[in-house]
Amino acid sequence: MKTKVLTQSDMEQAARILREGGLVGIPTETVYGLGANALDDTAVANIFIAKGRPQDNPLIIHIPEAAWLERYCTDVPDTAWRLAERFWPGPMTMVLPRSALVSDRVTAGLDTVGIRCPGHELCREIIRLAGVPVAAPSGNTSGRPSPTTAAHMMEDMDGKIDAIVDGGPCGVGVESTIIDLTCTPPRLLRPGGITLEQLTEVLGEVEIDPAVRRQMRAGEKPKAPGMAYRHYAPKAPVTVVAGDAGATADYILSHAKGGDGVICFDEYSDRFLGCHVIAVGKFEDKQEQARHIFDALRAFDHTEVSAIWAQCPDSSGIGLAVVNRLSKAAGFHVIEVEP
Ligand code: AMP
Ligand code: MG
Repeated sequence: MKTKVLTQSDMEQAARILREGGLVGIPTETVYGLGANALDDTAVANIFIAKGRPQDNPLIIHIPEAAWLERYCTDVPDTAWRLAERFWPGPMTMVLPRSALVSDRVTAGLDTVGIRCPGHELCREIIRLAGVPVAAPSGNTSGRPSPTTAAHMMEDMDGKIDAIVDGGPCGVGVESTIIDLTCTPPRLLRPGGITLEQLTEVLGEVEIDPAVRRQMRAGEKPKAPGMAYRHYAPKAPVTVVAGDAGATADYILSHAKGGDGVICFDEYSDRFLGCHVIAVGKFEDKQEQARHIFDALRAFDHTEVSAIWAQCPDSSGIGLAVVNRLSKAAGFHVIEVEP
C-alpha cells in the first residue's frame, strides 16, 4: 500500500478515507494518532494490525464536540460535563460507561470507553467531515516512542496506512491525560497536558493509579491492560536520574561512558563531552520538555548509542507526564540521587 501524504487542503479526502474504512494518520495537539472509523469493526481491527498492538489494549475515540458524548457513553455524570466544559477541546480523555454503538474492538471488551475532543482544529475538522467518531491510538509501532511529527509517524507507518495528514509538529508532545470517572474518587490513569492540579480543581479528590509511578507488581491487575505494557522505548536501555538537577548532571557525568546518549536540560548540555547529547528544554520549562521528550527518545534509534541517561524534572504540573513517559521508557529504572 502506498501511503499518501495529505495537507490542510485535502481534509475532504482524509474524511472520505476514514468513512470508507481506511486508516489515516491524524495530527492532534498531543501526538499523531492512527485513526479509523470507531463504528467499523474491520477498520478498527486494522489499527491493531498496523501497530502490532495487543488486542486487549483499548483505544480512545475522538469526537468533534462534547455534545457527541451521549451517543457513545451511557450515564454521562455531571462531573464529565464540567470537565468537558473546562478542558475540551483539549488533551484530556475521560473514561465513561460505554454505549452499545461502540465497537467491542475499540474497548477491548471493557464496559467503559475512553473518549476525547481534541484541541487540534484540523483534527476536529477531519472528524466532523467524516461524520463518525474516530478511534485513534498513538501512531507509532506498538512499544516505540509516540510520533510528534508526520515524518516520525511515517518512519513507523509508511506503507501500512492509506494516508497521513501533515498538520505540523504537535504542540503538547505527550499523549492525553486519562481520567477514569467510573470510580470514586476519579482516578488518573495517565498524566498528560491537562495536569493533576487542574483536574483536582474541578473534581476535588483525584486518585493516582499506581501504574503512573511504578511498575505493576506480579498479580496486580491494571485498570486498563495497556498500562502494563512496555512503552515508549528506544532500542538502547534508558536510565532515568531523578533529584536535584545539578546532582543528576554530576551523577550522569560520572557514570556515562563515551558515546552514550544523554537527555538533559538545556543548561547542562555542554557538560557531557564525548556523549551524544539531546537537550529537551530549560530546567524550568516543563512544557518544552514534554514537547521534545518523544523526539529525543526516537532520535537515539538513528545513532549507535548503547545506553541512554536522562535527567528528569519534578512531578508538578506537566512534569508528572514527562516523568511518567521517561520512567516507562526506562522500564521504571529510575535512580534517585541526593543533592
Ligand atoms: P494510546 O493513546 O495509544 O497510548 O492508547 C490509548 C490509551 O488509552 C491506552 O493506554 C489505553 O489503555 C487507554 N484506554 C482506552 N480506553 C480505555 C478504557 N475504557 N479504560 C481505561 N483505559 C483506556
Ligand atoms: Mg500509544
